[in-house]
Amino acid sequence: MKYTSTRDGSICVESAQAIAQGISAEGGLFVPQQMPQLTMADLTEIAAMDYVEAAKKVLGYFLTDYTPDEIDHCAKGAYVGSFDQDRPAPLVKINDHAYSLELWHGPTCAFKDLALQILPYLLTKAAQKTADGETKVILVATSGDTGKAALEGFADVDGVKILVFYPSDGVSAMQKLQMTTQKGNNVGVCAVHGNFDDCQTGVKQIFTDSQKAAALKAGNMAFSSANSINWGRLVPQIIYYIYSYASLLGQGVITQGETVNVVVPTGNFGNILAAYYAKQMGVPLGKLICASNQNNILTDFIRTGTYDRNRDFYTTLSPSMDILISSNLERLLYHLTDGNAQQVKCWMEDLSKNGKYTVDDATKAKITDLFYGGCADDTATKAAIARQFDRNGYLADPHTGVALQVYENYVDQTDDHAVTVIASTASPFKFSKGVLEAIGRQTEGKDEFTLCEELSAATGYAIPASIAALRGATPRFTDICEKQELWQQVVAMLGL
Ligand SMILES: *Cc1c(COP(=O)(O)O)cnc(C)c1O
Repeated sequence: MKYTSTRDGSICVESAQAIAQGISAEGGLFVPQQMPQLTMADLTEIAAMDYVEAAKKVLGYFLTDYTPDEIDHCAKGAYVGSFDQDRPAPLVKINDHAYSLELWHGPTCAFKDLALQILPYLLTKAAQKTADGETKVILVATSGDTGKAALEGFADVDGVKILVFYPSDGVSAMQKLQMTTQKGNNVGVCAVHGNFDDCQTGVKQIFTDSQKAAALKAGNMAFSSANSINWGRLVPQIIYYIYSYASLLGQGVITQGETVNVVVPTGNFGNILAAYYAKQMGVPLGKLICASNQNNILTDFIRTGTYDRNRDFYTTLSPSMDILISSNLERLLYHLTDGNAQQVKCWMEDLSKNGKYTVDDATKAKITDLFYGGCADDTATKAAIARQFDRNGYLADPHTGVALQVYENYVDQTDDHAVTVIASTASPFKFSKGVLEAIGRQTEGKDEFTLCEELSAATGYAIPASIAALRGATPRFTDICEKQELWQQVVAMLGL
């Protein structure tokens, strides 16, 4: 399997190169040149597998330059011993039609673990294969979940250093504590006076500054990326969509070939794009339901064909979806235009120049056929959390709450009662305050751990061990820098 760039069709690299590099030199994203095809026999076979075996099978289609032994090492390293009961993606029945795909049973209690537990293994192997021998320096700008999951995945990994920047007032108290108490000799965490965009802009400026790259190269180092522009983050996410279809088949919930809808609470369009890839591989998925919070730029795009970021930015109860530039949409556009890199490049130039672009009618028609876009504000999200808990005893975090509300709206509008998998992306205990308020409790003046205990007492759900363990932990990383000072932090950490 070879990979090309969404902005330059002449590029052709192996998966190791795509993963080591993270992003193509001209700014495009790496995409697979063919789509492997799964038959019903393959899905039946996967239904009898555990997660590690399923992961190995799926990764084998895409990472053809990795040996079976290497893939075995990566999959076992990532998925054995790090997730509750070694089940990274349990499917939990909500009602006769709806199943919650709980992706938050890993070390940091958010779905980012599914990819960031394996990325360090994939990247280490990729660096060996591309034989550059350089230390990879991973810079992360985070609004909370990616930072912690990347720190946890890369802590004490040889040949890697990782530095995370987060907005000093833009993450939840629990997310902050998770990051500032991180262990490991190759990690750094720094708060930034500013918002998430300031962090992201600062990191991007460092990535694209040739003098800074040269300074690293002189020390036999190079930057790499751990966010979902990296193909190594996306490919592990395809596994659980295939696996959940196979599991439903194995349990007899659906028959061979029966269509299953998927609902994904979306920010950067990475997770839902993985569902699209599973569908293109032949898994009988129906509508891909894209759920947004009040930052509903994707809802508008799916409905109108115009992507327009000239709008207000809202801070919501689901911070990991507070985003106005969904990077992975670029990959979808590439596939829907049958690989028209020139066209994709034009749209992305429009986006950076004018903050918007409009796709042609043929592309728009394909989008409407594949996707349904919907959104829910905080009020509707809280109501959905309360309703699910009352009706089905199911407790959802605010990101999953957005998905549940949009799913209800979809069924109301379409009367489509197909079996549906709802991606549940975070533990409710990462966002105890919002969830407690949703179920009608007072939260005023209470600290994070009191809120966790009250949520547990009110619902009967257990506090995840990794969250309980943070109580009383002393933060290691207390630096706060100005938004112009990110590079000084990098220099200090690397000893340049
Ligand atoms: C990152 C994240 C999302 C959004 O996922 P994308 O791949 O960026 O669309 C949703 N929910 C949670 C809890 C997240 O951490």
